[in-house]
This record gives sequence, C-alpha cells and structure tokens, in this order.
Amino acid sequence: MNKDVLLGSHIGLSGPDYFLGAVKEALSYGENCFMFYTGAPQNTLRKDVSALKPEEGKKAWLDAGNSLSSIIVHAPYIINLASKLKPESYAFSKQFLAQELQRAAAFGADKLVLHPGSDMKMGPEVGIANLVEALDEVLDNDDSSVKIAIETMAGKGTEIGRSFEEVAKILSLVKHKDRVGVTLDTCHVHDAGYDTSNPSAVIDEFDRVIGLDKLLVIHLNDSKNPLGSHKDRHENLGKGDIGFEALSCFVYDPRLANIPKILETPYYNSKPPYKKEIEMLREGYFDPDYLSKL
Ligand code: FE
Ligand code: FE
Ligand code: ZN
Repeated sequence: MNKDVLLGSHIGLSGPDYFLGAVKEALSYGENCFMFYTGAPQNTLRKDVSALKPEEGKKAWLDAGNSLSSIIVHAPYIINLASKLKPESYAFSKQFLAQELQRAAAFGADKLVLHPGSDMKMGPEVGIANLVEALDEVLDNDDSSVKIAIETMAGKGTEIGRSFEEVAKILSLVKHKDRVGVTLDTCHVHDAGYDTSNPSAVIDEFDRVIGLDKLLVIHLNDSKNPLGSHKDRHENLGKGDIGFEALSCFVYDPRLANIPKILETPYYNSKPPYKKEIEMLREGYFDPDYLSKL
C-alpha cells in the first residue's frame, strides 16, 4: 500500500457543509489531495466563500495530516478566454477568473485549473492571443499567489490547447510566467493523439516541449474513445482505451512524484468509484470487477 503518492478526485460542493463536506468526502475515499469547483461547474453562480465553511474545511484537512497545497480549484468550464467574438462574454470571463483566483486563495488553495477555451473558428493563433491577453490583464491586477494550471485539451470542436506545442506557446507568451503552469489530463492527451500506451514517452515529450517544471496537476482518467478521437469522454480506470497499467505508470513515474493526481472518472450506477480506484492504484493491483462491487 503506497500512502505517499498524492491521489484524489474531484469532489462536488454542496450544502449544508460545502467545503467542510468536500474535505470529509475526500478523506472518506482515502485521498491526500482533491479538486473542487467553487460552485456548479457548468454555471457561474457563486456564493460568498465565507458561507461555504472554508476555515472548518481547512482545519479538518490539516488535522488529517494533509497540506493545503494538495487542494486544487477547477474554474467552471463555461468561461471562455480564447474568443472575443462576444465581447461581453470575454469581459465576463476575465472578471470571473479574477474573482476565482481570490476565492481559491480564500480556501487556502494555490492552484486553479483552467480550460484554455475555444477560438470559435478564428484559429488557434487568435485564440492563444486572446487567452494570453486575458491572463496578463487578470494577473496584473491579482495580489494572490495562486497559480493558473492550463489544462491540456482533447481538441474537440475549436478547443485550443490540443497539443503540447499550443500549451507551450501560451506559456511562452504570458507575462507572469511564475503564475502559469499546466494540468496534464490523461484522457485529453490520449484523445488528442498522444500514445498513452507508452506513458514514459508522453512524459518525455511533455518535458521536451513544455518542461516538467511547469507541470502542476495531473488529471488521471481513462478514455471511452480511441487514440486521436478528439472526443473527451472520461472512463473509469481500466475500463477504457488507456488501461489500468498505463495509468499506473503516470502515477508512479518518479518524475511526477510530487504532482497531485486527480481522478475525474464517472460515477457508476450513481455510486462514486474513487475509494476503490484509489485503493487499486495504491496497492498496485487491478480487480476487473471492481465497479460491480461499489
Ligand atoms: Fe478540466
Ligand atoms: Fe480534466
Ligand atoms: Zn475532460
């Protein structure tokens, strides 16, 4: 049983206990890192952090022997900083990101995962320029030390960030280089066409193009679709096209030892799979029938 590896999942935030409830849920799955949305992922309605039991949650997390740097926030996926076609949505997305950095800091988190957005058919060059301009403007005016972790995307529709080169371009252009890093999502890179049957080679390529010093978070998901499908549909560990063994290699590669690994795998028959998936990763065995035993 390997207890040192940082393993966790995304956790919903719901009343009455909100952040404290999320911390308790993460602990109940045996997690030593976790990720949450500060409200619903698909909308931008947000309660004041003070109403979400931030201090109670932090205390419970620290009391269990964990550190605050293993708590990660994911920005809602409907904000889009890569397009100016609707100027009011671009302005809203910037304003939301600015507030989200402050919220993340109030929860004690130091990493905010952000989807780079969609260029709305204007092409990735334009999308990247829009995103970089937004990041510069927001970070110019932010006094927190929360880092933005740009997520590698599957390349569905007009998503930018579908290749390590595009992500590297974003990082090379932003002004506040110390505040911007990367989230590597195994399902997304697989669907984008990186051959995850050879995890070590994918990590080599990430290091060559982006640099492992920029890697802040790993999203550990299997994929429902074949290599290069550009789909982005997550599957439970060992039940998809990537497979348990390859996913374990991302967990145990010594170069990624200090990086939190977050599961975003689907519920099975309305039941969370995380406790079992984390246990299998920690113990290094795969039970092909685990989902039916949840
Ligand atoms: Fe994401
Ligand atoms: Fe992800
Ligand atoms: Zn995804």
